[in-house]
Amino acid sequence: MAQNTDHIATEGAMAPFWMPFTANKQFKASPRLLKSAEGMYYQSVDDRPILDGTAGLWCCNAGHGRRQITEAVQRQIAELDFAPTFQMGHPLPFEFAQRLAELAPPGLDRVFFTNSGSESADTALKIALQYHRLRGEGQRTRFIGREKGYHGVGFGGISVGGLGNNRKGFGPLLTGVDHLPHTLNIERNAFTKGLPEPDMSLADRLEELVALHGADTIAAVIVEPMAGSAGVILPPKGYLKRLREICTRHGILLIFDEVITGFGRLGSPFASQEFDVIPDILTSAKGLTNGAIPMGAVFVQNAIYNQFMDADGPAIELFHGYTYSGHPVAAAAGLATLEVYQSEGLLTRAADLAEYWESALHSLRDLPNVIDIRNYGLVGAIELSARDGAPGARAYDVFTKAFELGALIRVTGDVIALSPPLIIERDQIDQLMSIITDAIRATR
Ligand code: PMP
Repeated sequence: MAQNTDHIATEGAMAPFWMPFTANKQFKASPRLLKSAEGMYYQSVDDRPILDGTAGLWCCNAGHGRRQITEAVQRQIAELDFAPTFQMGHPLPFEFAQRLAELAPPGLDRVFFTNSGSESADTALKIALQYHRLRGEGQRTRFIGREKGYHGVGFGGISVGGLGNNRKGFGPLLTGVDHLPHTLNIERNAFTKGLPEPDMSLADRLEELVALHGADTIAAVIVEPMAGSAGVILPPKGYLKRLREICTRHGILLIFDEVITGFGRLGSPFASQEFDVIPDILTSAKGLTNGAIPMGAVFVQNAIYNQFMDADGPAIELFHGYTYSGHPVAAAAGLATLEVYQSEGLLTRAADLAEYWESALHSLRDLPNVIDIRNYGLVGAIELSARDGAPGARAYDVFTKAFELGALIRVTGDVIALSPPLIIERDQIDQLMSIITDAIRATR
């Protein structure tokens, strides 16, 4: 049932909600509000259908209002609303973890539940540190992230992350963190379809950091197999394999942040499978529950888990967890989500649509101010040149115009990032591109 939103239609009434990652004053002066959703469409409070070009925030991979998920949540909340998972249990997270392990890349059979991508990142970093300690290599405390990387907003995540705005203003952060270069090279790769050609110097920078610090000081490397938040940055061919080789050679753990690439976004259940590179730890969230209930999951290689179980340490192996780790309602949502994904073939549907998506997206290349288009699976980026003296302003105008015209897109800097639900049909891809075309044309 749609909610009555009249009471928030005034700016004053909107003041108390401090909106995340939002220019609050600007937004509250002219808000965009959604009130319901079904399938590929949101409904705005003024009753307009809004085509979802972003799966919410990269999370509603099966589209909206999926009855199977809604009903599972309703049933579960009525039956068991909450039960602890500290020194206690209930069956659902065990069942969900087992199903997830079957889906995950080989060996990543142990699942630690969190509530978000940020918590998943921090959990992964902590597991990596303690793993080395348990093996008698407690001096391995350094982390290596990547420029423009995004691993959420916890202190661990922003330390290894590489987006200046997310780090500046929050103090010294974790010490002993280095960043690999990002892999975006528009001059060389503009309008490349799919993965850019190899540039091994990017991955080989890891060897330089190893030489600089000594391998035995480095705990883990963390990267997104495909970076989304920074504006869709793809790994050049062979890049992830090379990172894997270097990490393996030096006993460094490789962590893949698959918060947005997990659950079918690139055409395989996980990017690790799509790119045939298996990390030691893999973080996820978002599509895990189709965005319906907050939940994250960290997949860990058996050997790492076993190191904790076999340790001669305290009875509790990992002093870490969240009140809501393995929450029954979230686990029920996740189980129902997996059923939907699997019964509808959604975990590989992006691969089926990739070619159509690619040519639809690249048909926009001659529009004004477009300087690059990038794509893989059901992900797309249209990069615009920055307006003089106002970086990000042009793409933001396209975003507000597209919303007026009936599509939700996402912008970061001057990049329009697209990641529609994996249920999208070809005519809806056309509709999305047509609205974006009109919005770009209407923007100076
Ligand atoms: N990692 C990546 C790669 C993400 O894209 C995001 C969210 N966009 C996060 C972590 C953080 O997830 P959350 O907002 O659920 O904390």
